[in-house]
Amino acid sequence: MSIQHNNKFQEIISHAKEYGFVFPSSEIYDGLSAVYDYGPYGAELKKNIRDYWWKSMTQFNDNIVGIDAAIFMHPTTWKASGHVDNFSDPMIDNKDSKKRYRVDHLIEAKAEELALEGKKEEEYELLKKMDEYLAADDFVALKNIIEEYKIKCSVSGTSNWTDIRQFNLMFKTEFGAVAADNAEDNIVYLRPETAQGIFVNFLNVQKTARMKIPFGIAQTGKAFRNEIVARQFIFRMREFEQMEMQFFVRPGTEDEWYKYWKNERLNWHLSLGLPKEKYRYHDHVKLAHYAKEACDIEYEFPIGFKEVEGIHSRSDFDLSQHQQFSKKKQQYFDNDINPETGKAFGNYIPYVIETSIGLDRMFLLVLSNAYEEETITKEDGSTDTRIVLHIPAKLAPVKLAVLPLLKKDGLPEIAQQLMADCKPYFKCFYEEKDAIGKRYRRQDAIGTPFCVTIDHQTKEDNTVTIRFRDSMKQERIAFNKVRELVMQNL
Ligand code: ATP
Repeated sequence: MSIQHNNKFQEIISHAKEYGFVFPSSEIYDGLSAVYDYGPYGAELKKNIRDYWWKSMTQFNDNIVGIDAAIFMHPTTWKASGHVDNFSDPMIDNKDSKKRYRVDHLIEAKAEELALEGKKEEEYELLKKMDEYLAADDFVALKNIIEEYKIKCSVSGTSNWTDIRQFNLMFKTEFGAVAADNAEDNIVYLRPETAQGIFVNFLNVQKTARMKIPFGIAQTGKAFRNEIVARQFIFRMREFEQMEMQFFVRPGTEDEWYKYWKNERLNWHLSLGLPKEKYRYHDHVKLAHYAKEACDIEYEFPIGFKEVEGIHSRSDFDLSQHQQFSKKKQQYFDNDINPETGKAFGNYIPYVIETSIGLDRMFLLVLSNAYEEETITKEDGSTDTRIVLHIPAKLAPVKLAVLPLLKKDGLPEIAQQLMADCKPYFKCFYEEKDAIGKRYRRQDAIGTPFCVTIDHQTKEDNTVTIRFRDSMKQERIAFNKVRELVMQNL
């Protein structure tokens, strides 16, 4: 990561804390590593992103319905899904600093260094080797790479490494109050993904909502992973939230649906006015054994291009596994006529296309894209700076700030009238303290797209000044047009 980028990332983290977006968890006890709390504006922004996703999935698509499954699931779920045996990452410890690293992250950081030095070919070779050895679970070869490239620990600065080992990322806890004879019987996991809650409810949902294939089930909710590398603010957390949708299709149609969702999901991001040039697809070369195709949507965060969302063509792996472990049929009867046979398609286990996005990562994306330290040239030619969050109006924590110019002469009363008029429709904020310029700056810093000032002229002609966050332009409009103007922009 370049120093410039690192600075920007640090500025965003400080800003998020100072303005009530994100706080370290239990900060008075010095925080808990990779766990964060959302403050007043953060909670609003997060909810707005979640609502926007939920609406695009379940309201704009007639064939997608939502569920809200529990975090705890029967432990066999995680045997069937493969998480007990396979949800692990190869890790390596530095013997001097005792710091643990994910092997792929350590090697990727080296590759990034090579790229910055202009050694593109060496970077490519290194990543190619890494992918090959990771796919083969060849830990000896991976360790050789770390030694060959003299990769050092960023804390101790040494290359004194342990052997590579696998660590499972699932959190375990105990269920029930009485200790069982066999403690293993009491173990449950905090779900590491929301998807399994969808798979185990496939038939419940299909039958009760009378869904016909192709159809989707969407869900948002918390997931937990005992991440080892957890120094990247809310990019990688131990407790986070996912927004996942599993789309069930007839076998043989999965390629076309995979393409469809790959395209559709990028368009969702762009529909928020986010810049296309900051996005790219990363098609996976190394596929999970059951996966047919998989790709990530990557965004250029201040820490480089990173995954924000995954789209996976998962075949019938998940439902077949649950059928096998639960001994309950997970089949769908398709009564559409197969043109090749002239008969109904009949019973089958559907194939699945998954779209999976991290809500917190999307939050970081919106914040990173919005944050700007802007230089403003004033009328007298002098310059000033302001910190502004250009958050898409639809997602902004507060849509409208209502600001009486003075705390007297009946101006607060008029302002309160406007509050009462707008409050039922969108989130408003009222403030009468401090000079108006200062109040505008505070709203810029939390990304409020519109500010309205009530002044003496309002009393004479029922007009107010509306100020636009991004252009800082001000206009006089009729008092009773404010609500409509804001709503048009949402
Ligand atoms: P990564 O390679 O970054 O660890 P992943 O490929 O394991 O991610 P998935 O299992 O596909 O991620 O999860 C889907 C999405 O959930 C990711 O695209 C990401 O947005 C989000 N996500 C995964 N792990 C975390 C985490 N520890 N903190 C925050 N978000 C996460």
